[in-house]
Amino acid sequence: MSNCWESFNRSREIIDKKRHQLFKPSRIASIVTRKMSADNVDKKGEPIEKLLIIGSGPAGHTAAIYAARASLQPLMYEGMMAGGVAAGGQLTTTTEVENFPGFPEGINGYDLMNKMRDQSIRWGTRVVTETIKKVDFSVHPFLAWPEDADKPIKALSVILSTGATAKRLNIKGEETYWNKGISACAVCDGALPIFRNKHLLVVGGGDTAAEEATFLTHYASKVSLLVRRDVFRASKAMQERVRTNPKIEIVWNTVAEEALGEERLSKVRVKDTVSGESRFIDASGLFYAIGHTPNTTFLDGQITLDETGYVVTGPHGTTTNVEGVFAAGDVQDKIYRQAITAAGSGCMAALEAERWLQHHTEAKL
Ligand code: FAD
Ligand code: NDP
Repeated sequence: MSNCWESFNRSREIIDKKRHQLFKPSRIASIVTRKMSADNVDKKGEPIEKLLIIGSGPAGHTAAIYAARASLQPLMYEGMMAGGVAAGGQLTTTTEVENFPGFPEGINGYDLMNKMRDQSIRWGTRVVTETIKKVDFSVHPFLAWPEDADKPIKALSVILSTGATAKRLNIKGEETYWNKGISACAVCDGALPIFRNKHLLVVGGGDTAAEEATFLTHYASKVSLLVRRDVFRASKAMQERVRTNPKIEIVWNTVAEEALGEERLSKVRVKDTVSGESRFIDASGLFYAIGHTPNTTFLDGQITLDETGYVVTGPHGTTTNVEGVFAAGDVQDKIYRQAITAAGSGCMAALEAERWLQHHTEAKL
């Protein structure tokens, strides 16, 4: 166990270094790449981009690689701590990624995203380290305003790949034990050795919590599901799966209040929401499954969203209700939420954007 923990700490140090490194080269890349203008200009001589990609996780970078190789000269706005996440997306908040194909030994989340970014740039993507604050999809070319900019970018097509942010409890000790026992993704982290044959806690009462608790029983000695009310929000089928799993204990009317331990998490203080009493539960893992917030606020009614704020795509593929605007990755997916599924839909979005541009805009190019 201690070896495992040492390697976790080493990864953490690497991440902190990378966090600093990531921004410096990004900003330099921004300056260099912004000088390269798009091929097309409007009547006033202002550039019109063929493809604007907003967001820089696996979906955005995969879209950029495909679009750049198809000579669309994509312009990517990678965000500046947009949605509280660094450029590169959610994987920059984790340590080892062990389920992305091509890396049999696993790969650090930052390294994986840096490699994707390098690959995008290598094929000619222009990457700008700024956040898009506003869009106007009621006109064509579409308009998008970067933060601190008065003039909008004009683009013939847009791929939205702004991801989602996992909600956090913001309890005492959370920062200390984040990635040291606390995780927001059981499917990603559950198989790590530090969680094997241990008592694990899952917070939440929805489908994700039910699914993640069930998933964790493959590794844990016991899983306790902390539900803040006395009912589930999860579907009946998922509830049944949880209730009939002998390794899962359902702890009703209970919220987590504090994470404790030494080098890593070993204990959680919880409170009974009815009696108000607090107690400690020994546990090696605390998994949040309390929902995600899709990064769609900046769209401000320009695109059809579902009732929870995710972009509605399809029925097949990545099209949205606005022709020429596509969406890929977690911003439109609340079911799978994996790097590889985000990358896959990024590829689809680029291919669909390329086809759409060919069919609809040749006259305007
Ligand atoms: P994201 O990765 O969310 O990236 C979106 C990017 O767009 C962010 O950088 C954001 O700042 C930026 N952005 C947002 N708004 C704007 C804007 N207005 N303008 C410009 N930029 C903007 N998946 C796995 O497959 N394996 C794992 O091991 C794994 N581990 C995980 C661990 C954790 C802790 C978490 C939270 C998730 C993990 N996942 C893992 C899930 C995986 O990270 C996501 O499914 C994937 O990153 C989604 O990719 P995406 O491209 O859709 O968006
Ligand atoms: P949900 O919003 O459905 O559920 C979130 C859960 O977390 C709720 O039980 C909520 O409690 C609880 N919660 C929220 N905040 C806190 C907090 N601060 N402390 C304690 N508990 C908290 O999110 P999900 O991610 O579960 O699901 C999102 C969507 O994705 C849903 O539509 C779901 O059906 C779908 N989904 C479907 C799956 C499938 O079909 N296999 C798998 C995963 C997701 P409360 O109920 O009291 O509000």
